[in-house]
Amino acid sequence: MSLLRFDGVSKQYPGGHQALAEVNFAVEPGEMLFVTGHSGAGKSTLLKLIQLAERPNRGAVLFDERNLHNVRGRKVALHRRDVGVVYQNHQLLTDRTIFENVALPLILRGMPRAEIGKRVRSQLERLGLGGREKSLPSQLSAGEQQRVGIARALIGEPRMLVADEPTGNLDPTLSAEIMELFASLPQRGTSVLVASHDLNLVKRMKKRVLVLNHGQLVDDISPEDLADE
Ligand code: ADP
Ligand code: ADP
Repeated sequence: MSLLRFDGVSKQYPGGHQALAEVNFAVEPGEMLFVTGHSGAGKSTLLKLIQLAERPNRGAVLFDERNLHNVRGRKVALHRRDVGVVYQNHQLLTDRTIFENVALPLILRGMPRAEIGKRVRSQLERLGLGGREKSLPSQLSAGEQQRVGIARALIGEPRMLVADEPTGNLDPTLSAEIMELFASLPQRGTSVLVASHDLNLVKRMKKRVLVLNHGQLVDDISPEDLADE
């Protein structure tokens, strides 16, 4: 059973921009894949449809075999718990500590303090951020800040993690490190979908790659195809 399925999905923004055209693909639980393509190809739109930040004009997005068309109102917030989001510029709260930034999603859902403390410390440890709990984001390097953003996205144990150009502000070495970190996550059962315009970086990861071109899914490259290159 697929975790995510795009079934003939088209998205046209008001004003006429066709961002996605008849897109079909499926993602299995625990699968890691990239989506790549030029600026304006439709990558962000694809991720927004998964988070219910946008709705398709045609076709269906299914999550856990459920048509997201029927997820409305208060159910939207519940769906978003299943989808962790990592942003290009991490969007950390600058006046809050690393601990508080990562704890926030759990505080919002009313988890007991002691449980939050345990979970946040273990998540930070796992991402190589142990001992940084009391620091402010500005005291961390760019790569560490992005790892905090990833910790925050993972803390609620989402079924899927989506990241939009997560290495957009990082140098090539740090970018490779962050991509390796994403690649290690599916071992924990979380599906991971990373959007990046950097095709060379993406290809080196030897994972499945969806290629968008002007809103059309023009290629779906398997890891086996990349192994020969
Ligand atoms: P990418 O992430 O690959 O750069 P986007 O999904 O952001 O691509 O954009 C796809 C196309 O849709 C582009 O032509 C873009 O200008 C257009 N677009 C994106 N968001 C909006 C919006 N809110 N309103 C109108 N057009 C949009
Ligand atoms: P990206 O390429 O990473 O998607 P953009 O700079 O294209 O980033 O888009 C930034 C924001 O502006 C997004 O929220 C997108 O939906 C919106 N946007 C993009 N293109 C348009 C457009 N033509 N009209 C209105 N909003 C747009």
